[in-house]
Amino acid sequence: MPGPDPHSIWIEPALGGSVLTYYRYFGTGKVGNRKKRVAVIGERLSRGDWNCRWCLDPMPIWRRTDALYCRESCRKRAARSRKQHSWVSISS
Ligand SMILES: [Zn+2]
Repeated sequence: MPGPDPHSIWIEPALGGSVLTYYRYFGTGKVGNRKKRVAVIGERLSRGDWNCRWCLDPMPIWRRTDALYCRESCRKRAARSRKQHSWVSISS
């Protein structure tokens, strides 16, 4: 499944927060799923939750709306550290 179009939505910093802007689908003029994405991302942004759980960088806009990490390497590092952590707690 191809990822969402990274150029269709973007975040602009604004006074007191950020503004989400999105394009309508070219041709049809329908917003469809994109509107839902914007709603979910906007909600996470307002909670201060649109950041990588590992490096705490702001998430790229093209990530899935339920993504927790900004990229694969962060996800893997987080998983590895979780694993290591549980190993230490078991052996000690
Ligand atoms: Zn990250």
